[in-house]
Amino acid sequence: MPELPEVEVTRRGLLPVEGALIAQVTIRHHGMRWPIPADLPQRLQGRRVLKLKRRAKYILAEIGTTVPEGTLLLHLGMSGRLCLLERDFPAEKHDHFDLLFADGRVIRLRDPRRFGAVLWLDQDPMQHELLNRLGPEPLEPAFNAAYLFQELRTRSAAIKTTIMDAHLVVGVGNIYASESLFRARIHPETPANTLSLAQCELLVQEIKSTLHAALEAGGSSLRDFFGADGNPGYFQQTYYVYGRTGEACRVCQQMILNIRLGQRSTFFCPQCQPRKSAVSHKKRLTK
Ligand SMILES: [Zn+2]
Repeated sequence: MPELPEVEVTRRGLLPVEGALIAQVTIRHHGMRWPIPADLPQRLQGRRVLKLKRRAKYILAEIGTTVPEGTLLLHLGMSGRLCLLERDFPAEKHDHFDLLFADGRVIRLRDPRRFGAVLWLDQDPMQHELLNRLGPEPLEPAFNAAYLFQELRTRSAAIKTTIMDAHLVVGVGNIYASESLFRARIHPETPANTLSLAQCELLVQEIKSTLHAALEAGGSSLRDFFGADGNPGYFQQTYYVYGRTGEACRVCQQMILNIRLGQRSTFFCPQCQPRKSAVSHKKRLTK
């Protein structure tokens, strides 16, 4: 599934079309997560992509002639990819949506599982129901230790599940939650409201650095990401724990474990991420 770094790298890869004139819109399959609006060609043709933004995992293309008239919202769902291609590149089975520009380039959405979305928003996109209750962006200053500590006070669920809640912070998916918790040495099942301020500081710091590292890995593979085959792969990274069940911890050589938490595979090292006992937690509170 494309995670926040892939979506941000996709946005950056599409930036060359900012300012480009949309000549034609092709919808080959309306049935995505929600139907692609049938009137999209009339709304987009003859307009320009003024600005490409991102909020959480939504790519937001401001559309207009000189001033924004609305926003084209794109979401990659479970399996979606957006490619920037030349117009003659033949469309394949799962290529559902094309934006053809007057200069001959095409943005093409390929999505075999069709959980992605292509929507038109007339109003301020931040007020749309998909976006208006989202937590802060993880790489923005608003996501900090004081904020996290405060938000966790009322949450007793496991920290791994909690940190993946988009109302708390967006874009911390399964990979980055597991990796950040390892780097912060926090057991994934730790009740969220038992984290100390120091642990919140460490976790925030590790979430930011894990995402930054992924962005850098993606940025360096951007050429491959938008390869001429029109079939970009997700960038490869080296993980500490994610997907490494039964392998040796890169830090302590202990075997990496895999548990189900909130229906998601959760990877951790039992030695680097010890479970804190209730007693030691109580002690900490009374200090
Ligand atoms: Zn370890």
